[in-house]
Amino acid sequence: MSRGIRALVTGAGGFIGHHLVKFLKAQGYWVRGVDRKLPEYAASGADEFQLLDLRKLGHCLKATRDIDEVYALAADMGGMGFISRHHARILRNNLLISTHTLEAARRNRVQRYLYASSACVYPEYLQGQAEVAALREEDAYPAQPQDAYGWEKLVTERACQHFREDYGLETHIARFHNVYGPLGTWQGGREKAPAAMCRKVALAKLTNNPVIEIWGDGEQTRSFCYIDDCLHGIVQLMHSDYHDPLNLGTDRLVTINELADLTAAVAGIAIEKKYVDGPQGVRGRNSDNTRLREVLQWEPEVTLEEGLARTYRWIEDQVRIKLNRKLLAAQRRAKARLQPAAPDDEAFAG
Ligand code: NAD
Repeated sequence: MSRGIRALVTGAGGFIGHHLVKFLKAQGYWVRGVDRKLPEYAASGADEFQLLDLRKLGHCLKATRDIDEVYALAADMGGMGFISRHHARILRNNLLISTHTLEAARRNRVQRYLYASSACVYPEYLQGQAEVAALREEDAYPAQPQDAYGWEKLVTERACQHFREDYGLETHIARFHNVYGPLGTWQGGREKAPAAMCRKVALAKLTNNPVIEIWGDGEQTRSFCYIDDCLHGIVQLMHSDYHDPLNLGTDRLVTINELADLTAAVAGIAIEKKYVDGPQGVRGRNSDNTRLREVLQWEPEVTLEEGLARTYRWIEDQVRIKLNRKLLAAQRRAKARLQPAAPDDEAFAG
């Protein structure tokens, strides 16, 4: 059915975008990937990959030329540590990317458009307790989103709605809730909780040091969605006749402490948790999937245990490779120090 459809995935060098390219290709799409960077961990499966800066309208016009469906995933983003520190930069960059991509899609007469929104659009005043009521789509108003990151997502949701009403661009809006899986950022400050936890546990296992640092008291709660489920949800929503924002996540609420224990169980080790200061975001957040079930007659299927096991295996491999490289470099340095002095040096000695 999808053979011959020309899709654009923006943010195709990033975590979800990279997986989405592969997923669409497997369904017979012709795919153009666009990003400022190539995917970090594996070659892109896209038919064509363009390195562009989507903050610029001209680049967006090039990206959307001769395209039927746009999957708009590009964003300047990261985990809590990143989005709680860079408000001006995130708001400016993401407003430019989102507005110019929408406008270019309109001018190039794109048929369908999916915008990657976020659970961060929900008001902070509904998320003050760890035992939260799951968030329904209509709870986004009265608005008080989390950080500049959440404000941009909410404004672009409105832009999608108005571009559909005023210009007939068929827009769809998915509110992702903590998507995780292999081939995602796992170090460097932009990684999100599941990847950070897998890295900490893998490091504990491979260095025989069981201490794991947890930001806050670890009782903050979230729900987590495995990448394969996210991809299924995205493509189903794009081909539905539903245009309002829709939650795309699981409704299993877990604490960060539980996430640590589940990860340790997957790794087969015992851990000791050390609680440290760090950005925690809202106290609790869960997805209400009532509307998701109604609209798509489907909801995410991969259990957290299964998804974490797949993610952990990949991250443990990455950590092992990094540790081995460090060890080799240290051995090379030590060897260089033990080398006898070069003849020239001897000439100057004594
Ligand atoms: P990611 O950071 O891995 O991917 C985003 C990509 O956008 C990156 O590769 C980045 O280089 C690219 N990008 C940034 N600025 C750009 C620019 N000016 N021009 C071109 N490309 C640019 O993030 P992800 O986890 O894959 O998220 C994809 C989308 O889903 C984002 O819009 C994000 O806000 C949204 N989202 C993700 C999650 C999650 O849990 N991963 C949750 C809610 C919403």
